[in-house]
Amino acid sequence: MFKKIITKQEQEALTPAEVLKGLIEGNKRFTSDDFHSRDYNAMKVSATGGQYPKAIVLSCVDSRVPVETVLDQGIGDIFVARVAGNFENTDILGSMEYACKVAGSKLVFVLGHESCGAVSAACDGVELGNITHLLGNIKPAVQAVQTPGKRDSSNKDFVHKVVEKNVELTMDRIREKSPILRRMEEYGEIKIVGGVYSLHTGEVVLLT
Ligand SMILES: [Zn+2]
Repeated sequence: MFKKIITKQEQEALTPAEVLKGLIEGNKRFTSDDFHSRDYNAMKVSATGGQYPKAIVLSCVDSRVPVETVLDQGIGDIFVARVAGNFENTDILGSMEYACKVAGSKLVFVLGHESCGAVSAACDGVELGNITHLLGNIKPAVQAVQTPGKRDSSNKDFVHKVVEKNVELTMDRIREKSPILRRMEEYGEIKIVGGVYSLHTGEVVLLT
C-alpha cells in the first residue's frame, strides 16, 4: 500500500499533538529501517493541485541530517527551512508564518543535531567572511551555557549543551518575534517544539 499525498481534509483533521506524534513515529520507522512505501511519481503528479503540509521543520544544513528521510516524510508532508545552526531570522519567521497561518501547518519543529559544525565554530569564536555574521546568531546559546571544563569545541559535552540551548533559545525567539505564531500556540492551533537528532542512533530526542 503506497502512502498518498496529504489532503486539505486530512491536514485540517490533525491536531498539533497528532502531527508531532506522527513525525516521531516517522523517526522510529527511520531508525528501524521500516520506511513507508511511496510512489514518488504518483505523489509528484497529485501534488500539482496544491499542498497541505502538516508541519514546518527548521533544521541545520548538515548533509547528515536529511530531514524528510530521518522523519520518513514524503512529497507534500512537511515544509523544511534550513540554515547552518538552525536559528530563526526574519525570513525564516516569515516562512513559518506562511506555513502555519496561510498553509495550515500545525507544528513548528526546531531540529538541532549532535556534533553541529556551526555550533562548534560558534563555541570556538571562528571569524570568516559571512560565517562571522551567521555564527553571531548562535553566540547567545554559547554564552548561556555553564561548564566546568573548556569553553570550546574540544569539550564535546559543552558543544552538546550549546546545541540543546540553541534549540531552546530559537523556540523562545520564535514566540517573542512572531506574535502570529505565539497567538496560534496560545490558542492551541499549533505547537512549537524542539528536538536534537543523534548522528549515532538516528533518533530525534524531544526537548521538553
Ligand atoms: Zn549543524
